[in-house]
Amino acid sequence: MTSSNVKEIEDLVKIISKLPGLGPKSAKRIVLKLINNREELIKPLTNILARVYKSVVRCNICGNLKSINLECTCANKKYDQICVVENIADMWVIEGSGIYKGHYHILGGTLPAIENKKTDGLLIAPLIDRVKKNSVKEVILATSATIEGQTTAHYIQNSLKDTKVKISKLAQGLPVGGEIEFLDDGTLFSAFKNRGPVVSD
Ligand SMILES: [Zn+2]
Repeated sequence: MTSSNVKEIEDLVKIISKLPGLGPKSAKRIVLKLINNREELIKPLTNILARVYKSVVRCNICGNLKSINLECTCANKKYDQICVVENIADMWVIEGSGIYKGHYHILGGTLPAIENKKTDGLLIAPLIDRVKKNSVKEVILATSATIEGQTTAHYIQNSLKDTKVKISKLAQGLPVGGEIEFLDDGTLFSAFKNRGPVVSD
């Protein structure tokens, strides 16, 4: 692959090839497309990236993305169910499947499987608050079927012990080690439909 002798282009290729699913080859194709469409692509892309950088943030309560100037949808709204996921990609997959249309809580990762169960950076405390404040009736734990995902689900389940909330967990159809993000709609649909109550120990 020949490389460009323009530093800016090289830098752009480098950044774009860091995006998911793209390698240096496809990054170069994208850059070429951009360069050939300065007005139609580069200009609006520059503007929207600057706007996203400036005004899109993660809500520090529900973990979803929100505009810095607006109140998040998790505030001041009554809802009965919260679906707890590890990350935004997981939420988008569940939303896209159409199986669940309620509110979400995005943890921002998982707890490590062994020891050191530090919840730093994970939005677990805000989840407990939301459940209590909104008198939520059901918490659906849609964490992955990985050890970390299950450890996290278990931790949340314990943290919600004192509340009367019903806790259910995606069950049948979810393969062991299955990450939500990579499940097909059919598997996800059946896992969601067949979710079962979790039993405290
Ligand atoms: Zn929020």
